[in-house]
Order: sequence, then structure tokens, then C-alpha cells
Amino acid sequence: MQPLFSHGDWRTPGKPSEVTNPYDGAVIDTVPTADAAEVDAALATLTDGAKAMRAMNPRDRAAILFHASDAIAANPEEWGRRICAEGGKPIGEAVGEANRAVETLRLSAIEAERLGGEVVPIDAAPNGAGKLAFTRRVPCGVVAAITPFNFPLNLVCHKVGPAIAAGNAVLLKPAGVTPLSALALTRLLLECGLPEQAITCLTGPGGELGEAICGDPRVRKITFTGSDAVGAKIIATAGVKKVTLELGSNCPAVVFADADLPATASLLAKQATANAGQVCISLQRVLVERSAHAEFRDLLVEAFSQLKTGDPADEATDVGPLIRRSDAERVEQWLNEAVEAGATRVCGGERDGSLLTPALLDGVEPGMKAYDEELFGPACGLRSFETEEEAAAMANDTRYGLAAGVYTRDLSRMVRLSESIDAGVLNFGPGSGGGGPQYRADLMPYGGLGSSGLGKEGPRYAVEEMTETKCVVIHP
Ligand code: NAD
Repeated sequence: MQPLFSHGDWRTPGKPSEVTNPYDGAVIDTVPTADAAEVDAALATLTDGAKAMRAMNPRDRAAILFHASDAIAANPEEWGRRICAEGGKPIGEAVGEANRAVETLRLSAIEAERLGGEVVPIDAAPNGAGKLAFTRRVPCGVVAAITPFNFPLNLVCHKVGPAIAAGNAVLLKPAGVTPLSALALTRLLLECGLPEQAITCLTGPGGELGEAICGDPRVRKITFTGSDAVGAKIIATAGVKKVTLELGSNCPAVVFADADLPATASLLAKQATANAGQVCISLQRVLVERSAHAEFRDLLVEAFSQLKTGDPADEATDVGPLIRRSDAERVEQWLNEAVEAGATRVCGGERDGSLLTPALLDGVEPGMKAYDEELFGPACGLRSFETEEEAAAMANDTRYGLAAGVYTRDLSRMVRLSESIDAGVLNFGPGSGGGGPQYRADLMPYGGLGSSGLGKEGPRYAVEEMTETKCVVIHP
């Protein structure tokens, strides 16, 4: 069994819970099941840990994160194999995730050394003449980091890295099905010098554990990535504390006839199927200019036909399993319901256990779950538009707003659509230069509008969200 780390020790509370490989169901390990009592004990220690972190020199906090980044960079394959085994992510993508974690921790370390306040121009206030005002940023205290299954290492780094950089203690709760990368990262951070009272990693399913964590007033900041359903529960439980929510979406790509259509099709096929479509910024709705619809559909079918579905440990595999067989069955059902409601299945959608071949629907419309809800599977749907205004209205016709892609060579149109399409991240280009809803770099502010979330991530922005601002006024 892999023990969890809580109140300064590796421990094995509760019943052992199996961690299985989503591809073949093999048991890879077992982990303990923490409960509300464990949360209570952990928070007593973390409250002391928060004081130790606040007192620690920022250079020392940065050093911990630089060391951890270097350690992952020394062996991304080992981290990638763990991600592949517990999450079913194709091995190439899984090693890519480990390399992203290297960058996320490195940028977090840099932010530890840049954290500062600003001078407030108080002189301009009617009662401010001759005074000096400035802000200081202080850590929140204990940060609860609750993470999803689909990036079991990098999304943990996106929370733990900035939390440490800002001088907080961290209560980490990884997804119940993918706890191993988070436990390995916890061990690494301790080896790199993080004080034992400053981190806890609690394994187990979300419900009781999540509520105990989010409802406790000793937690001063919750940073959550996961579904909008759980995000809503967290808001209801949290009480008065800071909350960042990184939630789901049903991302659109708008394809104009002047784009580089072959390049765009091959890019979009990957953006709809990476990690078997289980990415918050997975492409789901392809809005294509009517005059290019038939040509683009054929190009997408061609691009999909080149993707290999199968064992994620095989280097040749593009599309691995969904995290559970029940998720593959749900996606299959949503695709069937769309077909019953009038869409055409152009290719794919064959299910074998938790594997699903990449599927393309034509003629999707509002009212179909595969269009309105977050599908979270290796599939996307096509819909035609006539005008730029109609395209923007279709892109915005959703409660979500995480990311969108627009493919065109027309710069004026890009500028207009950057105003009219509402999403946290907009990617524009002709298609040949990459981009699309799934483009993300850790230097960017990243976070959604509407039901896609609250607040921003990316180390620089997450560090801001993990601190409180104090304003100091000197009256000489
Ligand atoms: P999920 O919402 O089921 O679970 C996320 C985490 O919340 C897990 O650790 C789970 O144990 C915990 N949890 C469950 N119930 C809880 C409760 N009542 N209180 C507190 N915590 C609780 O999500 P998932 O299936 O693991 O991940 C997929 C979802 O995550 C998708 O919707 C996807 O779009 C989203 N996601 C968003 C981003 C982003 O950056 N916006 C990135 C990745 C994934």
C-alpha cells in the first residue's frame, strides 16, 4: 500500500482502496481512505505549518520548487509511466504532462521571488496629501487543493507550486482514482526541503472528505479543478473563504472557409481526442462556414481515421481508454441520443470496454447533450454557419466559456471576434500555426467564464489568488 502523508507522517488510515489501470483493470496499488477525523487532525498540524511557511525566506521557498522541478526533469519517463498507468493517458502525452510539470514548478519558483505589492497613489485622494500608501501581499494560510483525474500530476503542480511559492501550507486532495502521482509529488517536495507540517496529501473519494475540507474555517483558500457540479457544491459548503474554481466546458472551434483547411482538420482531430477527449479544453463543437462544410467534414474524417485507439502504454497509441467503463458507456449513449435526434454519425464511436474510437457527428444542434453538455470523450460535432455574427452567437450559445479557437486568415475578423466571442482564452490563426481551444502555456492567465469557473491559474495569477492584500498607509 502507498501510505498517505498527514500530520507530519506517512500513515495508512481507513480501508485500503484499489487504484486500477483504466485500460485492463489491473490493480496497480492500494491507498488509504481518509475521513473527516483525518482532515481535522491534518488541519491542526497545517495551521502550524502555515506559520512556518510564512516565516520562510522566499528564496528558500523558491529553492524547494526549483529542486522539485529539476528532479522531475531528470526522469520525466518515470513520472509519465505512473500517469499512464493510473490515468490511462497515452504514454507520449503522459511524458508530455511530466514535462509540463517541470515548467509549472519552475515558473512557480520564479514567482516566489517576485511576490510584492504596489505603491498606491494616495496623494490623489482628497484626504491623501502627503501620505504614503502601499500594499503587501501575505499568504492566505492553509490552502486546500482539490484536483481531478485527467492531469494527475500537472494540475496538482498548478496548485501546490503557487501555494508554496506564496508561503502557504497545503492540504492536497487528489482525485480518488488517480492518487499516485500526487503522493509521489508530496514525497518529492518533502525530500526537497518542504517542512513536514506544511503539506498533507489525503487520498479517498470526494464526498465526505471534500465537504470536511471545504467547510472547515481553518482552510482559508480553496483551489479546485473539476466538474461544475462539484464546483457548485464547494461554493455551497465553503462559507467565507477565497475560492478558485477551474471547471469544465464544451469548447467551440470556428472554421472559416479561408483557413488552411487540411492543417486545421489535422489539428482539430487531435484537439478533440487528446487524453480520449478527457481534457477541460477538449474541442467539442466545430462550427464551420457553410461553403466549406462538406470539404472540412471529409478532411476531419481522414484525420480521425489516422488515429490509433488502444493500449496507452503502446507508443503508437493516440487514443487510450476513458477513465472508467461507465464513462465510455455514457459518451456512447450521448452520441446515440444525438443520432436519434437528427445528427449523422460520420465515423467512429465503436466501444470496446472503456475504449471508444474517435467519433464525428454531423448536424449537431442545441438540445443534444453532445452539444450542450460537457461530453468528455473522444468525439466532436459539426454545425454550419453563414455569417461571422452567426458564428459568434453559436460559439457563445452555452453556459460554459473556457476556451475557443477561430481559424481564418482575416486579421480584422480576428479582432472583431476577440470582442464578440466570450471565453477565458481565445486562440486565432489560419490553422497552419497551431492554436485552437487546447493551446495552453503556463505563462498565460487561464480560467473560464460562466459555468467554466471563477478566478485564474497559471503560476503568476495563481500566486496572486493564493495571497491576501494588506494596504499600509503611513501618515508622517
Ligand atoms: P470531479 O468534479 O468529479 O472531481 C474533482 C475532485 O473533486 C476530485 O478530487 C473529487 O474527489 C473531489 N470531490 C468530489 N466531490 C466533492 C465534494 N463534495 N467536495 C469537494 N471535493 C469533491 O472531476 P473529475 O471527474 O475528477 O475531473 C473531470 C472534470 O474536471 C471535468 O469537468 C473537467 O472539465 C474538469 N477539469 C477542468 C480543468 C480546468 O482547468 N478548467 C482542468 C481539468 C479538468
